[in-house]
Amino acid sequence: MPVTIGALRESAPQETRVSLVPEVADKLLQGGARVLLQRGAGTRAQFPDSTYKNVNWADSGESVLEQSDVVLTVQPLSVEQIQRLKSGAVVVGYMQPYARPAEVRALKERGVTSFAVEFIPRISRAQSMDALSSQASIAGYKAVLIAANQLQKFLPMLTTAAGTIRPSMVLVIGAGVAGLQAIATARRLGAVVEAYDVRSATREQVKSLGAKFVDTGVSADGAGGYARELTEDEKRKQQEVLDSRIAAADAVITTASVPGRAAPKIVSRAAVERMRPGSVIVDIAAEQGGNCELTVANEIVEHQGVKIVGAVNLSSTLAYNASEMYARNLLNFLKPAINKGELSIDWTDEVFAQSCLTRDGRISHEPTRKALEG
Ligand code: NAD
Repeated sequence: MPVTIGALRESAPQETRVSLVPEVADKLLQGGARVLLQRGAGTRAQFPDSTYKNVNWADSGESVLEQSDVVLTVQPLSVEQIQRLKSGAVVVGYMQPYARPAEVRALKERGVTSFAVEFIPRISRAQSMDALSSQASIAGYKAVLIAANQLQKFLPMLTTAAGTIRPSMVLVIGAGVAGLQAIATARRLGAVVEAYDVRSATREQVKSLGAKFVDTGVSADGAGGYARELTEDEKRKQQEVLDSRIAAADAVITTASVPGRAAPKIVSRAAVERMRPGSVIVDIAAEQGGNCELTVANEIVEHQGVKIVGAVNLSSTLAYNASEMYARNLLNFLKPAINKGELSIDWTDEVFAQSCLTRDGRISHEPTRKALEG
């Protein structure tokens, strides 16, 4: 029996992406799988039903969940949805395990094999599966466009008959995947860009994109190429230098995060109050609590003339390309497990082993198991 791979019309508010695009559905069909989609699954990402060829259709999400051997999702399934899954089904998508303990327990109890895209190891071989990166680069790009839209200034320098216009200064805090894309986008639009990160490797990356690296004298390289949390002393040192650069910026894009922790608070109320009226902060870390003290997720707060945009799910605002990239990431992840239309997972492969959240009635991702079960 060929494996049935299903995809839903996402039901979370503001989620417009789809986990399976026509190009990827074709590839799964060529690999011998059966593809089952909920009607309208791709509509909000501009993939109408007519663009999917030779797939099977279901009128409801429940029907997809009940019939599929593998379910591809963007947002985590709800407890009710998990209970509809076949016992032994496989789910691949974002799992947000620390924010959704009830869903993790439901996956475990239902005997579901779940893979969290958040835990796919960031090794060279897995770059093509790296959904965190593909979606973060979209967020970095979009954050700059939002800042440009909110500013009442040009980003580039302009020499006009009405005189010369000075370029805007954009400061990017956190130079990971999102931050580097924000730097590149702001540079393409002609802004003068400065950037800062606590990881020492970012210095050269920032410079190679034509931006100036802000040196605070603090470096905090943590495990696995990520940043570690700063000590109080380091935070003070960082603050002194950064505050003056924040005050000089027209737009600040904040992207800093530390895995498994709330986003570090880097832009204080006092720093916002030193900014010129009309300046803008776009906080991509809003969902993890925000890098700015005044950020409210999903809102634009105005404080003494400075706008603070609490950006949430920015990749969904570019749903067409975001879905293409995400669906390709999932295809590259699943491909090695599908052989002549049948599913067989090689558990000695670190990509499957490390990204597995639940399996055989237990939580197999150790940090999540510890957090949930002690
Ligand atoms: P992330 O989203 O976890 O964090 C964003 C950035 O915030 C990081 O660069 C981090 O150093 C920075 N940050 C954290 N605390 C900060 C603070 N107090 N002040 C300033 N900046 C702070 O990071 P990410 O974009 O997911 O990337 C994390 C790492 O993974 C990077 O080393 C990246 O190069 C690496 N990576 C590797 C691969 C691969 O090899 N396959 C793919 C993608 C990313």
